[in-house]
This record gives sequence, C-alpha cells and structure tokens, in this order.
Amino acid sequence: MPSSRVSIVRTPKSPSRKEIEGAIRKAIDLIGGLDDIISRKDLVLINPSWVAPPTDPQSAVITSPEVTRAVADIIRDFGARPIIAESSAVGVDTEKVRANSAYGEMRSEGYEVINLKSTSKVTVEIEGGEVLKKVETFELVTRADIIISVPKMKTHDQTELTCSLKKLKGLVSDEQKRWMHKTGVFKGVVDINMLLKPRLSIVDAILCQEGLGPIFGHPVEMNLIVAGKDLVAVDSICGQIMGYEPEEVLITKFAAERGLGVMDNKMIELAGEPLENVRRRFMRSVEDDPVEVDGFSLLFGGITCTGCRNTVMSALIDMRNAGHLKYLPGVTVITGDPDIPKAVPGDEIVAVGQCVPKGKRGKRFVRGCPPNNAYVVDAIIGGREKVRRMYAEKSLEETEE
Ligand code: SF4
Repeated sequence: MPSSRVSIVRTPKSPSRKEIEGAIRKAIDLIGGLDDIISRKDLVLINPSWVAPPTDPQSAVITSPEVTRAVADIIRDFGARPIIAESSAVGVDTEKVRANSAYGEMRSEGYEVINLKSTSKVTVEIEGGEVLKKVETFELVTRADIIISVPKMKTHDQTELTCSLKKLKGLVSDEQKRWMHKTGVFKGVVDINMLLKPRLSIVDAILCQEGLGPIFGHPVEMNLIVAGKDLVAVDSICGQIMGYEPEEVLITKFAAERGLGVMDNKMIELAGEPLENVRRRFMRSVEDDPVEVDGFSLLFGGITCTGCRNTVMSALIDMRNAGHLKYLPGVTVITGDPDIPKAVPGDEIVAVGQCVPKGKRGKRFVRGCPPNNAYVVDAIIGGREKVRRMYAEKSLEETEE
C-alpha cells in the first residue's frame, strides 16, 4: 500500500521562467498541494544549492535561480513568507556565489535572499541523533516554520548522488560540515534531516550534472521537476531516474532505515511521468577522470570532505586550463589521512589541508581547512608560474594551520 506520493513533471527544452513555474505548480498539485504542510503566515525557508562556483547556468552546479524564484512565488501566493537561504561548501565564500549568479538580482526584485554564513549560529541538540548528538546551525533555520529542500539533481564524488536529503547540509555551519566528515557524512546527513524535518522537496532536474559532481561534472539535460513531501521517497525516485538502485545510495538507505520516509517503490505512488519514460543512466563519479597524467597520483583519505576535494579538483582543472599539467608528473597529492604507498618519496608529496596528520605532511604542506586552490597549484609547481586566488574567504597569511 503506497504511503508517499512523488510527482515527475516534464518541462520543455530550455524552459522559460513561466514554463518552469507552470511545471512546479503542476508537480505540487500532483502531490496534493500545500494545505497539509504550510499555514498562511508561516516563515518558509527555501534551501537551494549554492555549493560553489562556477555559477553560470550551463555548468549545472547550483540550483537554477528560476526554479527557486518560482518556489518562492508559489509560497508567497499561498500567503506565507518565503526566505531563500543557504551556506556554500566549506571554505567557499557564499556571498560571491550569490552575487555572481542570478540570485544576485533577486534582492532588488523583492525576494529575501540570505547568505547564512553571515548570520548568527546556534547549537541545537538532536534527539535520537546517531552520530551527531547536537548540531551547529543558524538561528534563522531554527526560526523557520517549514523547510523546503530545492536541490539540483547531480552525481556526487562521495555519496553517489546529491539530492533532497544531502542538500540540507547547507543549513549547518562550516565547522559542523567539517566535523561531519570525521564522524560519518551519511549518517550525519540523516541526523540533520531528523532535526530539521523538511516537509517538501522540489528537485531542479532540468539541467543536471553527471560524472565528477557535484561541481566538476558534465551537464545533462533532463528537463524534469520532481516533487514530494517524503524526501526519502523523492531521493529514491531521483536515484532511480539516474540509474541507481535505492539501496546503493547510502543516505537514502540509512534515512529509510531510520524511519524518515520510504524508498521502496511498492510504498511510493508516482504521479505524472512514468519512471521508465525518464530514466537515463548518469555517469558515475568514479567513471570520470578530468585530469589523467602519467606519474601523477591523487590520494583522498577517507575523512576528506567536500572542502579539500573541491580545492584539489579546482586546482587540477585550473592547471589544465592554464596548460600547467606538465608540472604534475612526480607529484602525489594527498588529503585527509590516506595510506601512502612506501614507494612514494616524501619530497613528491603535496599534502593538502589540516586533516593530514603532522607525520605525513612533509615539506610541501598546504595549510588551511580547506586551503585555497591557488596555494595547492603553487605547492605543485613551486612558484614557477603565477597563480590567482578566487572565491577563498582568507588569504594565505590569514590562514591558520
Ligand atoms: S582539512 Fe580539508 S578534509 Fe579536513 S575538514 Fe578541512 S576541508 Fe575537510
């Protein structure tokens, strides 16, 4: 007997703002409207993804501003107060992500758009939390009556995919995000969802990302909106659209086991487009390799979080774009606390980030949490080329070890 409903609605190719709003309204109607979850005058926190640059729509990294704007309009028309709020990945300047995207114009259009990293933080206990007994979030998040997750459908280099449940990591502080990668990101995300109890997900599956997501993958046109009030069911269906079995995606699996929702298709009533009409296998993160150079190795230790992965991948892509890959042979970049093969000479190691234990750092240690990608490039090429710092919150001089 189905207990959760998920809708899948097609948009036209390269949809207009009006067509996106029409598709979202239809997707919400198909799951029974908003009356059972939102009251008029509620403070509704809408949480899109602003994980990191690049912010241009064709890169498919952040949630489309048109999707978020349409959700805010629908909430406002309903009589509640929408606030769009997010904090980017560890170490990324959220204000720059906002200002350099179409979200930058939305304040002047009358929307409340908040960079959570600039707001007050508060620590809240999680009753029944498995790996997190308390979490550092933002005061605004705790004041919201309703939270709506508005993710972009993407593959993810650590969690297979990122969708409604993972999105909520944007509602905790950088310190908390770092800590979660040490305690276990899969169960940590489930704990955060247990605390925040999001009531609705509207997935931007119009232009998605496959391969080395959530930042460095390849755009995939799907032209879909997926919606539901059970975020586990939404993520299970989104995963299946992308070619994953529900239990392959550990966040979905653990969330279902903890009773946050259902992932079994027998328990999910689908409305709108049939699943088999919209499936397309996404390239897995491990199948993608944007920088393959003989004699170069990359060792991500198990505790490496998005911060250092993002830093290292941006550094390599910057080097590729600048024609600097010739400096990579004979270099092993490490993050977290990896096992380093004995054959690797110490002077070949470029250790990135403070999670690398002191005994493994060597002479080419790049401090920071995370360091800026420019300093990683510098450590690799030894100052033989000039590199530019982008989107980092701190200069090297300000960076603490
Ligand atoms: S040093 Fe890197 S891997 Fe460790 S917490 Fe900071 S950003 Fe994450």
